[in-house]
Amino acid sequence: MSEHGESKEVSSLKRRLNREKQARLQAESLLTEKSEALFRALQESQSTEKRLKLALWAAQETLWEWDASSDRISIRAFSLHDVKETIIESDPFSLLTYIHEDDIHYLQFQWALVLHCEQEHLEVSFRYRHKAEYLWMRLRGRVLERNAFGSATRIVGTTRDITLEREAEQSFHLMASAFASSREPMLVLSAGFTVTECNNAFLSMLNLREKSECFGWPLSMLLADADEHTDRLNEHPIRFETRLKVTSKKQLTVDVSLAKFETRYQKKPYIIATIRDVSERKLNETRLKQMALYDPLTGLFNRNGLNDVLKHYLQGNSDFSLLFVDLDGFKLINDGAGHESGDRCLKEVAKVMEVAPAINKVVTRWGGDEFIIILPGSKPETAVNFAHAIITAIEGLTLETQDSDLALSASIGIASYPYHGTTAERLIQNADAAMYLAKGRGKGQISVYEDGLWESVKAKVSLLSDLRKAINQEALEFYVQGKYDLHGVLKGGELLCRWHSSLHGNVPPDVFIPLAEENKLDFHIGLLSLHRACEYLKELDAERELVQLAVNISVNQLLDPLFPSQAAAICREHNISPALIEVELTESIFIQDAERAIEALSLLRNKGFSLAMDDFGSGFSALSYLRMFSFTTVKLDRSLLKDIHYDQKALALFQGIIAMLKRLEIQTVAEGVELSEYLPILRDAGVDLLQGYYFDKPSPFREFLIKLPTRVYD
Ligand code: C2E
Ligand code: CA
Ligand code: CA
Repeated sequence: MSEHGESKEVSSLKRRLNREKQARLQAESLLTEKSEALFRALQESQSTEKRLKLALWAAQETLWEWDASSDRISIRAFSLHDVKETIIESDPFSLLTYIHEDDIHYLQFQWALVLHCEQEHLEVSFRYRHKAEYLWMRLRGRVLERNAFGSATRIVGTTRDITLEREAEQSFHLMASAFASSREPMLVLSAGFTVTECNNAFLSMLNLREKSECFGWPLSMLLADADEHTDRLNEHPIRFETRLKVTSKKQLTVDVSLAKFETRYQKKPYIIATIRDVSERKLNETRLKQMALYDPLTGLFNRNGLNDVLKHYLQGNSDFSLLFVDLDGFKLINDGAGHESGDRCLKEVAKVMEVAPAINKVVTRWGGDEFIIILPGSKPETAVNFAHAIITAIEGLTLETQDSDLALSASIGIASYPYHGTTAERLIQNADAAMYLAKGRGKGQISVYEDGLWESVKAKVSLLSDLRKAINQEALEFYVQGKYDLHGVLKGGELLCRWHSSLHGNVPPDVFIPLAEENKLDFHIGLLSLHRACEYLKELDAERELVQLAVNISVNQLLDPLFPSQAAAICREHNISPALIEVELTESIFIQDAERAIEALSLLRNKGFSLAMDDFGSGFSALSYLRMFSFTTVKLDRSLLKDIHYDQKALALFQGIIAMLKRLEIQTVAEGVELSEYLPILRDAGVDLLQGYYFDKPSPFREFLIKLPTRVYD
């Protein structure tokens, strides 16, 4: 066969081959097309799945699917931290063991509705145990397939952990109920400070019936100066006190707190206002302030109040006077008539002082029975006139008590600004010192401060407290000075008190005895001297010849109705006869109340004591006293002796007095015998006993004792 002459078979084979080639090419390209389409479809479906997974991951949803044929649930969970999904397969029953028992029934019920009752959707929340705690889960599902009987065969859905939402919800409910039930009135305000919500406490504070009544009210309508404060509100809460307008007439003092809150859910911040009614506390505060400044008994300013007043006048820098008023004998009223009378007395005195004439004055109670009056614009002279008016007004009062009507009186000390001090402390202290001086002069006296007065009063006060201590500790000593007859024979002695203070040295009796008398300490000294006299007599009795010893007793003590029996009791206690003791007293005993004096002296004499009038010739020396009461002894004051050795007049007077006393059969003692020149004169005049430095000075008892002859026993 030739090339051109190929057979029919070959050419038909070639054609077939070509056709088949074509067909294969077509098939291949179709296959490629299909493959590409398939690939694209596959890719598309994968990216949908990816997108789905991403969406589920972002929403933190877990995908689940239940299939009836296997009765298994497959769960595909997406963790937040991991893009990989976890796939769990489980049967529904084992999953149920993780559900909180309170939630199981509801879940099962809902599942049954979807499974058998044509309910297509499932949505239920329950607690799911995860490790040691329960998480709140929300489960959603949808039926995909049902069988011929209508039962679901395939359900798919998602679950989600909603614990955080639940907690937020709960805390919101909690806060809301706290807001509603709080006893503190509270408001929720808009950013523009208008009321959007309120609680019941607020309603009742404003007497409103419905919440809606106050919605939309601006805060400035409620609070007096709201705008001033709301301007200050920023991130930090603020708190202030203001007035709440309850009605047009009624306002309350309130304590307001404002706090701004911003939430993710709201476009604008809102403000919580807490409005606390503090009007009662305010009232109490004012009351306390009143109490702090005023004296409850008299209603006058107390010390605190006075300090405020003084501060004011000191700042004013113009003249004013300070009067320190102290009632006389108040202790007697208080102790004798009782505290109720004492209080009444203070109230009445406060009243008369307040109405006393002075245009401008401030009366205050300093404490006890002491008052301080401030007289603005007054110099010392005008203050003295006012002080007189005050004393007259107080003396015009009588205090009626059960037993008697008591007369009142006061002593006043004055210090004026700026002359007597420029500070409150100094002025009070100086007026007090002046008052002390006035008191010393008797009742109803006035004294104006002078330079150095305070220092001397202070020294006196310090001396007094030291004396008190010495008396309490029985640190006072009693020296003895002898009494001699005309032959120089020791016939008796006088006890004289001595005080050595570690602070003030040897204090002379002329200083401390009057101080003791002013402060009623003389009673102690009198009794102490009696005790010592008895003790000394005891010693004498044991060793020497017995002589009479004299004690000095102050007038007040002698007038004390208890004294005679006290004195007698002391003698009894020491087993000493009162006849061995001579009581020396001064004539001033007759000045106050002669009748009472005679009564007291008679009582003492009846107890067996000898009585001597001391210092005769130094004061009034009214001879009538000698007629009123018959003394055993009169002691002639040393001023009578003075110069008798060359002054004829002095001698005549002295001799006359002695002659008179002799006629009255009264024993005479000459005091202050210093010179030998006196001796012949005293002998001629017939004086019985002599006492003075010529013989001896007061000395400790032992020195006195050894001068006496030893006792001769029969
Ligand atoms: P008095 O009772 O007149 O006592 C006599 C005073 O004269 C004593 O002073 C004594 O030391 C002093 N004296 C004695 N002889 C002379 C003398 O020759 N020349 C001078 N210049 N003085 C002489 P004293 O001890 O300082 O007492 C002074 C006053 O104090 C006493 O005067 C008496 O009133 C009072 N006193 C002393 N002790 C007591 C006491 O225990 N109780 C009371 N209530 N008063 C007493
Ligand atoms: Ca005396
Ligand atoms: Ca005397």
